[in-house]
Amino acid sequence: MLCRDYSDILRSILMKRYRIFVVLAIFLLSSSLMCAKGKKDLWKSNAAAWWNNTSKSSGYCDICNVTISKGEGYLLSSDEVASSPKYKDYVFKQQSSIMKALGMGDQEIMDSVSRLLSQAKESPTPWISCNKCIDMFLP
Ligand SMILES: [Zn+2]
Repeated sequence: MLCRDYSDILRSILMKRYRIFVVLAIFLLSSSLMCAKGKKDLWKSNAAAWWNNTSKSSGYCDICNVTISKGEGYLLSSDEVASSPKYKDYVFKQQSSIMKALGMGDQEIMDSVSRLLSQAKESPTPWISCNKCIDMFLP
C-alpha cells in the first residue's frame, strides 16, 4: 500500500514535471523564434541605416556576391558572421569544392577554411547579407 502510494506520488510528480517541460519547451521555442525575428529585424534596420550613410546605389552580398540594391539586405557584425555554424559549413563546402578541383589535400583545405574564418572574425567592417544568405545566421 505504502509502495503504491509512493508510486502514485512519484507518477504525479513526473506528470507535473513533464507538464513543466512541455510548457518550458513551448516557451523556449516561441522565445527563440521571436529572438530570431528580432535579430532579423535589427539586422535589416542596421542595413537601412548603413545605406542612408553611403553614396553607393547598390552593393554585393559579402557571403555569396549577389547584387543587393540600395536599402536592401541585412547588416551583421563580423563576430555574428564568423560564429555561425552554418556559415562555417558554407565556407568549408565552398573551399572544398574549389580546392579539391585544384588537386589540394584535406590539410590544405582545413588550413584555408580556418584562415578564412579568422579573417572573417577580424574584419573591421560589418557584413551585408542578401535575403538568401541571412538564413545562415538564424537558428
Ligand atoms: Zn548572399
